[in-house]
Amino acid sequence: MGWPSDLADACADLFLGGCCAGCTAPGRLLCADCDAVLHGRARVAWPDPVPDGLPLPASVGAYDGPVRAILLAHKEHARYGLHRPLGQALAAAAALVAGRAEGPDIRSVVLVPVPSRAAVVRARGHDPLLRMTRAAAVRLRAHGYRVDVLPALRQNWPPEDQAGLGSEARARNVAGAFAVWPRSERLLAGRRVVVTDDIVTTGATAAEAARALRTAGAAPCGLATVAATARWMSDFGRRLPILGSGG
Ligand SMILES: [Zn+2]
Repeated sequence: MGWPSDLADACADLFLGGCCAGCTAPGRLLCADCDAVLHGRARVAWPDPVPDGLPLPASVGAYDGPVRAILLAHKEHARYGLHRPLGQALAAAAALVAGRAEGPDIRSVVLVPVPSRAAVVRARGHDPLLRMTRAAAVRLRAHGYRVDVLPALRQNWPPEDQAGLGSEARARNVAGAFAVWPRSERLLAGRRVVVTDDIVTTGATAAEAARALRTAGAAPCGLATVAATARWMSDFGRRLPILGSGG
């Protein structure tokens, strides 16, 4: 099955109206200011409390304002061309966590997206996280990394929606929810594995992904996300409690 082409992206943007997905300024898919946010520096962003087993988390932005609008436009409103700038942000976060991991070859990385519900992917008509993760791999390869994207995780059952749950309830909700596809195990062995997701909230979903990977013998070294849900936007980048809906 093919992903929407560049031409389809352009047609969709034309059809949906020429405005910035981040701030609705008239013009292109992303204005220069909103594009610059996604090209920002990645930072370590720990949730508080830190769930057991959460690998080093890094994000480029806080989940608010233009970043939130851009993620929703890509995920829910078919603005497919946003996968590239979102992938840029994901690539910066992945490079940060891969660079801090132990091991001989920091430029050999496997990106493993957190699994989406199959029914949700079907309803949306695309898998936004997988598209962003593939775009991140393209960016990293352009910088000399050897990168594989491996959707190695499956859901044992679909976890309940995490929105509205506190950190302990989220952890209970997702405990044991993921497993590695048997065919992926040998492809993960000995590789620097980075889990990817669009946002990190309490970290419960990513910690479960990391647990499943470790159970299969893999060694996840980090979590790369576009955004972290932050209570204090201006303090993004320090170690802060992060709140809100999502994973
Ligand atoms: Zn904008």
